[in-house]
Amino acid sequence: MVDIVAFGAHPDDLEFGMGGALVRMVREGLSVTEVVLTRGEGGTYGDPETRAREQQHAADVIGCGLRFLDFRDGEVEVTKEGVMQIVNVIRELRPQICFAPFDRNPYTHRDGSAHPDHVACGELVKKACRLAKFSKYRAPEPPHLVQNLFFYMVPKGFLPTFVIDFTDYYDDWVKAISAHESQIDNLRNGYLRSYLEAYKILHGSCIDRKYGDGFYSAEPLDVNPRTLLTPHR
Ligand SMILES: [Zn+2]
Repeated sequence: MVDIVAFGAHPDDLEFGMGGALVRMVREGLSVTEVVLTRGEGGTYGDPETRAREQQHAADVIGCGLRFLDFRDGEVEVTKEGVMQIVNVIRELRPQICFAPFDRNPYTHRDGSAHPDHVACGELVKKACRLAKFSKYRAPEPPHLVQNLFFYMVPKGFLPTFVIDFTDYYDDWVKAISAHESQIDNLRNGYLRSYLEAYKILHGSCIDRKYGDGFYSAEPLDVNPRTLLTPHR
């Protein structure tokens, strides 16, 4: 049983999309497991062995668990079998919260920041979270209710529903994204670092902090009033 399971379609999605928040969660005592659907074998740079090794390095930096599933890069689709795989993982790990790539992020021809696999991964996890609680849904593990499902952006998105400040953990976030050596200085014509940093600053600025990861909640949040007592800065 873990507090949080964070799903990504490819190695690097989680660190680029919400790595700072993951570092903060672990440093503050939450148990986190990353579940990566593919080994990034369809990526322009790196081979699957390298990318799996880089993902393990990133998970070690963050201090979380890591599991790979056997979806194929570029072919992540919402199928009955795929949903069952995700349901099984959820029922086995039994998280309170799941994170997934935003399931409606537009992916367009020129803008490489969103990938169809990210959207499919978000849809798969959303569907699996819904089905995992049904006792008669045909998966072997006992049913499990996920309390919350939140979406992260990889990294492009829109005005977030909430932001997790990771300013104090910025250095570890840089180490985590740098673990993806085959990707970090090659993608987006070599300017991925500054591109990611710009989004983290943008999301941080939404809550008057330097760096943040932005998230989207598709439904209203059940908020403890104490969490609304944001300290004055
Ligand atoms: Zn990706």
